[in-house]
Amino acid sequence: MRLLTKCPACSIAVELSIAHADRRTHCPRCGKLFRLPDTDALHEALALLRSAQCDVYVDEKGNVYG
Ligand SMILES: [Zn+2]
Repeated sequence: MRLLTKCPACSIAVELSIAHADRRTHCPRCGKLFRLPDTDALHEALALLRSAQCDVYVDEKGNVYG
């Protein structure tokens, strides 16, 4: 499963394996180290998406999943 996130420093979209969730990774463009959403939040979001048949979920902190 692939996961799309955004670098907080330079805002490019970064595509990663879900194995990187809840871990820190380096942005491929600017090299900034940032943390991905944890898998609990991600799995919860994906379950919600499936049950609601929507494509994107935004949590209360503004994290976007989908
Ligand atoms: Zn960056």
